[in-house]
Amino acid sequence: MRAVQLTAWQSEPELREVPVPRPGPGELLLRVDAAGLCHSDLHVMSCPPGTLPYDLPMTLGHEIAGTVVEVGDGVDGSWLDRLAVVHGVWSCGTCHSCRRGHENHCLHLDGRVGFGLGRPGGLAEYVLVPAARQLVAADGMVATELAPLADAALTAYHAIRLHREAIEGGTVVVIGAGGLGHLAVQILKQTTDAHIVVVDTRPAALEAAREHGAHTTGTTVAEAVDAPVDVVLDFVGADSTLAAGAEVLAPGGRLVMVGGGGGSMTVAKGRDLPLGWHVNAPFWGPRQDLEAVVELARGGQIVADIEVVRFSDTLDAYRRLREGDVRGRIVVVPD
Ligand SMILES: [Zn+2]
Ligand SMILES: [Zn+2]
Repeated sequence: MRAVQLTAWQSEPELREVPVPRPGPGELLLRVDAAGLCHSDLHVMSCPPGTLPYDLPMTLGHEIAGTVVEVGDGVDGSWLDRLAVVHGVWSCGTCHSCRRGHENHCLHLDGRVGFGLGRPGGLAEYVLVPAARQLVAADGMVATELAPLADAALTAYHAIRLHREAIEGGTVVVIGAGGLGHLAVQILKQTTDAHIVVVDTRPAALEAAREHGAHTTGTTVAEAVDAPVDVVLDFVGADSTLAAGAEVLAPGGRLVMVGGGGGSMTVAKGRDLPLGWHVNAPFWGPRQDLEAVVELARGGQIVADIEVVRFSDTLDAYRRLREGDVRGRIVVVPD
């Protein structure tokens, strides 16, 4: 089968021919019907050797929707032919965190956190899934709309759920209305009563955010915000966005760093942050939150803005993602 593989650090991925995996005991084989491209893939490609504990070559792709075509010994055969979205965290299912429903904090991830992020990913004709508990059934839904739920929607939903108490009845600022942020706006609108402020430098992204329910928009935080806010969801994560977010926090406010833009800040008592500050960097999300976003999508409450590309065009699509020449999420489908 063909797969999009990273073969060397600090290089572009390649289309390569690899064997179709066979499911062992407890495992399932999915035919990949749709796979999303993510900025974190670009981050992985750009890492110098020794940064990430991944073995190369590695198939990329951590937003996967597909159909179960083969099951290993011990797997419920009723999974066959079902469409599912894959919970991408390669969790053990049995550790302290997994037992509490925090699979995204599994104690055994060992740096190789999931599909396409240390483990074989979904940018291939087939992908091996280690356990049925990593699938969320999505019968009757559309694969291209499902794939972005696995990371873009899940990560946004998880960040919002963690801070729901502060968001309800308050004001939340979303910085960056791209692949994750545009879904965050919809999730906030559909599941909270917050006043939603959206900041993005691109006029088209702000227009879409208003359609999705943003109450106030602006090209800078300072322009969009005129009173202290309860929660800042920073989907960029650059030095400048973290600083701008910290600037407008109310006492007790929460600065949530979701985007991996490489920014940093100093946190200390009595310095730049308001009294009672919270700073948090959520990671991806647990299975229960993936189930929640699948239900929101099933009910039409959230809809990912997608651009569908053919598998053969994946390398070109990554180049456009790097150049910022995309709107919404790129989703790859078989040729
Ligand atoms: Zn991602
Ligand atoms: Zn675990």
